[in-house]
Amino acid sequence: MSSSVTKVVVVGGGASGMIAAIAARREGAEVTVLEKNQRVGKKLLVTGNGRCNLTNTDIDISHFHGLNPKFAFYA
Ligand SMILES: Cc1cc2nc3c(=O)[nH]c(=O)nc-3n(C[C@H](O)[C@H](O)[C@H](O)COP(=O)(O)OP(=O)(O)OC[C@H]3O[C@@H](n4cnc5c(N)ncnc54)[C@H](O)[C@@H]3O)c2cc1C
Repeated sequence: MSSSVTKVVVVGGGASGMIAAIAARREGAEVTVLEKNQRVGKKLLVTGNGRCNLTNTDIDISHFHGLNPKFAFYA
Protein backbone atom coordinates (compact mmCIF):
# COMPACT_ATOMS: atom_id res chain seq x y z
CA MET A 1 0.00 0.00 0.00
CA SER A 2 1.44 3.40 -0.96
CA SER A 3 0.83 6.56 1.02
CA SER A 4 0.54 9.92 -0.68
CA VAL A 5 2.29 12.93 0.74
CA THR A 6 1.03 16.40 -0.13
CA LYS A 7 3.81 18.48 -1.62
CA VAL A 8 3.72 22.23 -1.01
CA VAL A 9 5.94 24.87 -2.59
CA VAL A 10 6.02 28.26 -0.87
CA VAL A 11 7.40 31.10 -2.98
CA GLY A 12 9.02 33.67 -0.74
CA GLY A 13 10.55 33.07 2.68
CA GLY A 14 9.31 36.17 4.43
CA ALA A 15 7.18 36.15 7.56
CA SER A 16 4.13 34.97 5.65
CA GLY A 17 5.97 32.31 3.72
CA MET A 18 7.73 30.93 6.77
CA ILE A 19 4.54 30.62 8.80
CA ALA A 20 2.75 29.08 5.82
CA ALA A 21 5.57 26.55 5.45
CA ILE A 22 5.50 25.72 9.16
CA ALA A 23 1.72 25.31 9.11
CA ALA A 24 1.83 23.05 6.05
CA ARG A 25 4.63 20.94 7.52
CA ARG A 26 2.69 20.53 10.75
CA GLU A 27 -0.15 19.12 8.64
CA GLY A 28 2.27 16.55 7.25
CA ALA A 29 3.08 18.12 3.90
CA GLU A 30 6.48 17.93 2.26
CA VAL A 31 7.41 21.60 2.03
CA THR A 32 9.89 23.45 -0.16
CA VAL A 33 10.49 27.17 0.35
CA LEU A 34 11.83 29.10 -2.63
CA GLU A 35 13.55 32.29 -1.54
CA LYS A 36 15.36 34.63 -3.92
CA ASN A 37 17.60 36.02 -1.18
CA GLN A 38 20.45 34.02 0.29
CA ARG A 39 18.43 33.36 3.41
CA VAL A 40 14.83 33.51 4.56
CA GLY A 41 13.43 36.16 6.86
CA LYS A 42 15.83 38.86 5.79
CA LYS A 43 13.31 41.70 5.99
CA LEU A 44 12.33 40.66 9.49
CA LEU A 45 15.87 41.40 10.57
CA VAL A 46 15.31 45.11 9.91
CA THR A 47 12.15 45.27 12.00
CA GLY A 48 12.14 46.45 15.55
CA ASN A 49 14.78 49.04 14.83
CA GLY A 50 17.18 46.48 13.38
CA ARG A 51 16.98 44.09 16.29
CA CYS A 52 13.70 42.33 15.44
CA ASN A 53 10.63 43.01 17.50
CA LEU A 54 11.03 40.26 20.04
CA THR A 55 14.52 41.19 21.11
CA ASN A 56 14.43 44.97 20.99
CA THR A 57 15.07 46.16 24.53
CA ASP A 58 16.73 49.42 23.55
CA ILE A 59 13.94 51.55 22.11
CA ASP A 60 15.21 55.10 22.07
CA ILE A 61 14.27 58.15 20.01
CA SER A 62 17.89 58.43 18.82
CA HIS A 63 17.50 55.18 16.82
CA PHE A 64 14.62 56.47 14.69
CA HIS A 65 15.13 58.57 11.55
CA GLY A 66 12.96 60.57 9.15
CA LEU A 67 10.90 63.74 9.20
CA ASN A 68 9.03 62.75 12.34
CA PRO A 69 11.03 60.28 14.44
CA LYS A 70 8.52 60.63 17.29
CA PHE A 71 5.89 58.95 15.11
CA ALA A 72 7.17 55.52 16.15
CA PHE A 73 6.26 56.26 19.75
CA TYR A 74 2.77 57.48 18.90
CA ALA A 75 2.22 54.45 16.68
C1 LIG B 1 12.51 48.93 7.39
C2 LIG B 1 11.32 48.09 7.82
C3 LIG B 1 10.99 48.00 9.17
C4 LIG B 1 9.89 47.26 9.58
N1 LIG B 1 9.60 47.21 10.91
C5 LIG B 1 8.54 46.48 11.32
C6 LIG B 1 8.26 46.40 12.71
O1 LIG B 1 8.96 46.95 13.54
N2 LIG B 1 7.18 45.66 13.07
C7 LIG B 1 6.39 45.00 12.16
O2 LIG B 1 5.42 44.34 12.57
N3 LIG B 1 6.66 45.07 10.84
C8 LIG B 1 7.70 45.79 10.41
N4 LIG B 1 7.96 45.87 9.08
C9 LIG B 1 7.06 45.21 8.15
C10 LIG B 1 7.38 43.72 8.05
O3 LIG B 1 8.75 43.53 7.76
C11 LIG B 1 6.50 43.18 6.94
O4 LIG B 1 5.15 43.40 7.26
C12 LIG B 1 6.72 41.69 6.75
O5 LIG B 1 8.09 41.40 6.48
C13 LIG B 1 5.86 41.23 5.58
O6 LIG B 1 6.06 39.84 5.44
P1 LIG B 1 5.72 39.12 4.10
O7 LIG B 1 6.09 37.68 4.28
O8 LIG B 1 4.33 39.43 3.69
O9 LIG B 1 6.64 39.83 2.99
P2 LIG B 1 8.23 39.90 2.93
O10 LIG B 1 8.86 39.95 4.27
O11 LIG B 1 8.50 40.98 1.95
O12 LIG B 1 8.63 38.49 2.29
C14 LIG B 1 8.52 38.20 0.92
C15 LIG B 1 9.69 37.28 0.57
O13 LIG B 1 9.51 36.80 -0.75
C16 LIG B 1 10.75 36.83 -1.41
N5 LIG B 1 10.44 36.87 -2.84
C17 LIG B 1 9.82 37.84 -3.53
N6 LIG B 1 9.68 37.50 -4.82
C18 LIG B 1 10.22 36.27 -4.93
C19 LIG B 1 10.38 35.38 -6.03
N7 LIG B 1 9.93 35.69 -7.26
N8 LIG B 1 10.98 34.20 -5.81
C20 LIG B 1 11.44 33.87 -4.56
N9 LIG B 1 11.32 34.66 -3.49
C21 LIG B 1 10.72 35.86 -3.67
C22 LIG B 1 11.43 38.07 -0.88
O14 LIG B 1 12.83 38.02 -1.05
C23 LIG B 1 11.03 38.00 0.60
O15 LIG B 1 11.95 37.25 1.37
C24 LIG B 1 9.07 46.59 8.62
C25 LIG B 1 9.43 46.65 7.25
C26 LIG B 1 10.53 47.38 6.84
C27 LIG B 1 10.88 47.44 5.37
